[in-house]
Amino acid sequence: MIMKKCALITGASGGIGSEIALRLAKDGFAIAACYCSDESGIRKLEKELCEIGAVYKLYKADVSDYNRIKEVFADAADFFGGVSVLVNNAGIAQQKLFTDITQEEFDRITAVNFKGVFNCCQCAVPFMVNRKSGKIINISSMWGVCGASCETVYSATKAAVIGLTKALARELAPSNIQVNCVAPGAIDTKMNNNLSDEDKSAFAQEIPMGRFGTAQEIAGVVSFLASRDSDYVTAQVITADGGLT
Ligand code: NAP
Repeated sequence: MIMKKCALITGASGGIGSEIALRLAKDGFAIAACYCSDESGIRKLEKELCEIGAVYKLYKADVSDYNRIKEVFADAADFFGGVSVLVNNAGIAQQKLFTDITQEEFDRITAVNFKGVFNCCQCAVPFMVNRKSGKIINISSMWGVCGASCETVYSATKAAVIGLTKALARELAPSNIQVNCVAPGAIDTKMNNNLSDEDKSAFAQEIPMGRFGTAQEIAGVVSFLASRDSDYVTAQVITADGGLT
C-alpha cells in the first residue's frame, strides 16, 4: 500500500496541469495524472516525475465521460488507497463571436469545462466524506469572474465552476473538506497559442504586472490550497492575474 496521500490532477498533460502535478509531487503527494489525448505532453511529465522519484500513475480519460471517470477513481482507490486532493484543471477554450457558436461547440465546452468538474467531484466526494478530510481545487479563470468578449461559453463555464465550488464548499464543510477555486489570468501555455507574439505583448501591456503569468505560479497557489496551511480556507476564489481584474 502506498503511504503518501494521492493528488489526482486532470489535464496533467497540459501547461498548467503538468506544473501542478510536479509541484504536488515535490510537496510529497503521490500523483494520479489524468490526460485526454496529448501522449507527448504526458510522457514529458512522466519523465519529470521519474526524475524526482515521484510515486505516480497515468490515466487516459475524457473528463466528460462519467463512466470512465468512475473507473479512474475506482482504480485510484485500489492503487493509492483513495484520492485526498482533487485538482480539476482540464479545460478547453474557444474564441468566437457569440452568434457564430454552434450547438455542438456549446455542448462540448460545457461538457469538458463544467460537467467534467461535476463528474470528478462526484466520484471523489464519497471517499473524502468517509475520511472526513479532503481538498478540491477547481481551476476556473479570471474570465469566469469578469467575462471575456468572444469567449462567452468559456467564460460561462468558468463562472459555473465558481458557483459549483461555493455551493459544494458549504455542503462539504461539515465533513472537513475544503473546496476552492483558482482563477488564473493570462498564463503562457498552449491554450494561448492562437495569439500572435504581437497580440501577446499588447495584452501584456494591459496587465499591471506587465507580463503573462507562468504555470509554476499557478501551481504555487494550488500547492497552498492542497496543504494543511489552507485548512480554514473554503468556498474561495483566488485570482492570480497580475492585477488585471
Ligand atoms: P492546456 O495546456 O491546453 O491544457 C489543457 C489540458 O486539459 C490538457 O492536459 C488537456 O488534455 C486537458 N483536456 C482537454 N480536454 C479534455 C477532456 N475532454 N478530458 C480530459 N482532459 C482534457 O491549457 P492550460 O493553460 O494548461 O489550461 C489548464 C486550465 O487552466 C484550463 O482549465 C484553463 O481553462 C485554465 N486557464 C488557463 C489560462 C491560460 O491563460 N492558459 C487562464 C485561465 C484559466 P490533452 O491535451 O491530453 O487532450
